[in-house]
Amino acid sequence: MKILVINCGSSSLKYQLINMKNEEVMAKGLVERIGIEGSVLTQKINDSKYEIKQYMKDHKEAIKLVVEALTHEEYGVIKNMNEISAVGHRVVHAGEKYSSSVLINEDVIKVLEQCVKLAPLHNPANIVGINVCRELIPNIPMVAVFDTAFHQTLPDYAYIYPLPYELYTKYAIRKYGFHGTSHKYVSDVAAQMLGKNKKDLKIITCHLGNGASLCAIDKGKSVDTSMGFTPLEGLAMGTRCGDIDSAIIPFLMKTGELTIDNVDNLLNKESGVLGISGVSSDFRDIEEAASRGNKRAELALEVFCYRVKKFIGAYIAAMGGVDCIVFTAGLGENSPETREKVCENLEFMGINVDKEKNKIRGKAMDISSKESRVKVFVIPTNEELMIAKETKTIVEIK
Ligand code: AMP
Repeated sequence: MKILVINCGSSSLKYQLINMKNEEVMAKGLVERIGIEGSVLTQKINDSKYEIKQYMKDHKEAIKLVVEALTHEEYGVIKNMNEISAVGHRVVHAGEKYSSSVLINEDVIKVLEQCVKLAPLHNPANIVGINVCRELIPNIPMVAVFDTAFHQTLPDYAYIYPLPYELYTKYAIRKYGFHGTSHKYVSDVAAQMLGKNKKDLKIITCHLGNGASLCAIDKGKSVDTSMGFTPLEGLAMGTRCGDIDSAIIPFLMKTGELTIDNVDNLLNKESGVLGISGVSSDFRDIEEAASRGNKRAELALEVFCYRVKKFIGAYIAAMGGVDCIVFTAGLGENSPETREKVCENLEFMGINVDKEKNKIRGKAMDISSKESRVKVFVIPTNEELMIAKETKTIVEIK
């Protein structure tokens, strides 16, 4: 069974064709600058790379080109699209409607449209991707896999904000949580690495990338997570501020210098480690600047790690213990310094990282020391494979 995974952004589109027999990635690609001058499709098959530079005015043209690239005589990997059994679409927001992946039909699309107000930057692009695929490759089952679904098990005391309750009933303002596919994937792998059933485990997953979130997973279920109503809440991130005193927003607006759009932009795009360091939103640049003695870069890393550590403490308290902590995503998989700093001084909680093992980058590995009561793992995330697996499960039970 071959499954095409589509992750559609507002001006970009990522795709992977996965052979589910051996979970091999047959081809993966990225289309950038859709609707903008300089559109380009890059497709990788093993070590070979093909590039098509051609203006694509919209997602329809982009997906047409993806079909062309996958079925191309010379650099394609399949003869025609009938070889594909299903398409799995990453969808950011499903509100409170879906707690697992679903087979896409008209009713599902209506729900996604209702959720546009909750994810105005993401859901419209996801819906366009689904509609165009249904038009261009009809008769192939399509499945929606949601970022929010894994967190639908959060108890009400974790997802309700201390605001007037009517804001929840009227506007659906509550914590939803994101990165669900990644948290689920790495926690499943962690259970396999431990040789245990996830129903017997308390796991904290740390997805530390440009966007970052933690998740407390008890008996295989998400019971708390650091992102909230939007992906702005929680940790300090590349450019997002995470938790701040919300009174800062009216304070800034009362200065008269900033409109609500300016503030939104400031919190989402000019804050986080970029805002503190003034160097970059990319952790490699910040680590490099810090190693040359840049004090604000050092402070940015300090703030970032301190906040991850505080969430770990909070989630251990929330679950009444922890068996395993997992680091994943760009920074979690590749930055020994971050992992060491986050786990520093947590020995009294049974968390002990082995400095030698911690040197690992980008590979699944147990980095805890022999004495550590809590296992600490590095596990590369693979959201595309998770989407493909979910898609396979849904189409098989159809
Ligand atoms: P992601 O959003 O998961 O793609 O992660 C992107 C972030 O991971 C960027 O801020 C990168 O700087 C960071 N990252 C990737 N590789 C490394 C590395 N080798 N060392 C430190 N940070 C890294």
